[in-house]
Amino acid sequence: MRQTFDVKGGPHIGRQNLPLLRDLLQADDLDGFYVPHEDEYQNEYLPAANERLAWVSGFTGSFGSAFVFSDRAVLFIDGRYTIQAADQTDKDLFERIAVPDPGPFGWLAQQDLKGSRIGYDPALMTPNDVDALFNAAEKAGATISPCRTNPIDRAWRDRPVQPLATVYPHALEFAGQSAEEKQQTIAQTLVADGLDAAVITSPASLAWLFNIRGGDVACSPLPLGRAVLRADASADLFLNPDKCDDDLRAHLGNKVTLLPETALEDRLGALKGQAVSLDPSLASAWFFQRLETAGAKIHRQLDPVMLPKARKNAAEIAGTAAAHRRDGVALTRFLHWLDTDAQSGEVTEIDAAIKLETFRDEVTGLRDLSFETISGAGPNGALPHYRVSSASNRLLERGSLYLVDSGGQYPDGTTDVTRTVPIGTPSAEMQHHYTLVLKGHIALDQVRFPEGTTGTHLDTLARHALWQAGLDYDHGTGHGVGVFLGVHEGPQRIAKGWNATPLQPGMIVSNEPGYYKEGAYGIRIENLQYVTPAEPIAGGDRDMLGFECLTFAPLARDLIDLNVLTSAERDWVDDYHQRVLAEIGPGVTGDVRAWLEQACAAL
Ligand code: ZN
Ligand code: ZN
Repeated sequence: MRQTFDVKGGPHIGRQNLPLLRDLLQADDLDGFYVPHEDEYQNEYLPAANERLAWVSGFTGSFGSAFVFSDRAVLFIDGRYTIQAADQTDKDLFERIAVPDPGPFGWLAQQDLKGSRIGYDPALMTPNDVDALFNAAEKAGATISPCRTNPIDRAWRDRPVQPLATVYPHALEFAGQSAEEKQQTIAQTLVADGLDAAVITSPASLAWLFNIRGGDVACSPLPLGRAVLRADASADLFLNPDKCDDDLRAHLGNKVTLLPETALEDRLGALKGQAVSLDPSLASAWFFQRLETAGAKIHRQLDPVMLPKARKNAAEIAGTAAAHRRDGVALTRFLHWLDTDAQSGEVTEIDAAIKLETFRDEVTGLRDLSFETISGAGPNGALPHYRVSSASNRLLERGSLYLVDSGGQYPDGTTDVTRTVPIGTPSAEMQHHYTLVLKGHIALDQVRFPEGTTGTHLDTLARHALWQAGLDYDHGTGHGVGVFLGVHEGPQRIAKGWNATPLQPGMIVSNEPGYYKEGAYGIRIENLQYVTPAEPIAGGDRDMLGFECLTFAPLARDLIDLNVLTSAERDWVDDYHQRVLAEIGPGVTGDVRAWLEQACAAL
């Protein structure tokens, strides 16, 4: 099994470790300490050695933070973790506050902490977060103080070792461009911007820039490391030497110097007087403080790898499409199982997640899941980021909806797909809501838009049908997706909040509108699609862009209310299902093939 459903952590951990941290804070002359969930690499998934919030509190959720003082400790969690946090932390030790209201810094600003010194680890926070902490502390009458070494790391006995998965070359046939060429191209942009070097702090960026992959964190083949690329296209790559072998050295060539991460501090010091780019949304405050101390001229700007990485080349698109065809076979076999065996009402969310994983495991090339499967039955489906555990596990009951959001990592591409299916007979209300979500999905699939359009401009299309019914959903509509890299990547995004990056050919985005009825059910339909030049439009006088779909798996025809669809939308569903049959049909046989033909028949 690639996923575990046991909840680790628990209140005994906080009881044991909180006093150890407090002892060190006292020794360091600190009255408080800020503990974010994020680690040095600002990744979604952390290695066990960096789960500092779990170490101090016992809370193992993927989002949260805490303030620890000598006489009180406060844990800030997202609403989806309310129950888990109550199970895992001792209420006598940790007060629990659900964010965003008011958030850790908003809370701090309202406290009376005159004369207190609050410590923080600059390696774990972006400069924006440090500014917010500073301002909040000032309002509370406190000061903040960066810690040279994290007191949790010093107090942590039996800390797991940092991951040491071998870093390996990413094949040119999947990358579509050699690492040397990529370094040359990015170096030219540094020259054009008047920069001497770029400090690359994001593991996903260095994976792309050097055509390498690793296995240091779950669900994403990232090599944890850093790099400095210079304007002459030479580079320093900082990786633990235990992760590097001769294959890797041969692949990197002689313009790349491999160095241990312990050499990073010195090498940054050597950038004195140079113009260096650093991305404040990706790099921690530690990098800024280090480069300022060294006397480098810091240019706060987008990591120069981000845009080229987001604009996939033809080989990356072809690989991603091929990965989706194979992944779609596993998903189709699972949807068939949901429509037959799982209609009994006796299957649980965990059974279903395991079943889906079993089908994916049979797909050629599967390296990992791209995230932990969201397997949400009935009211659990109404929690958009729900993670099933043995404590929350529910039956897929008849008369309910089941939502499943999942994906796989393959050497040629990364998938992310959501389907919502009825268990038993759906209500007319469920059908109505599903069809409104589908209308939004279709609108965003079909749109033509001029150059310069950003995801923010398009977001409304996916919500329009819901808005006219007085409904909405509280998450973004689309995120970027990597190629055998992170399932969530920028800089483009389709959401209400302003995003300044125009959608450009080759960018992959998800299209995932939803509707959530609290305490009852959740609905989401998610396909991945990529930006491509659109066919010329008769009578039009501008070049237009559009989307090409990557994800093929049947929609839930029993949830579609034909009275709510226009005839053009109905045609879209029929065309889409014809493509599903063409792309996935050859990969399935017997009962599944027969079922797929029915599932894809014209409405
Ligand atoms: Zn998804
Ligand atoms: Zn997604």
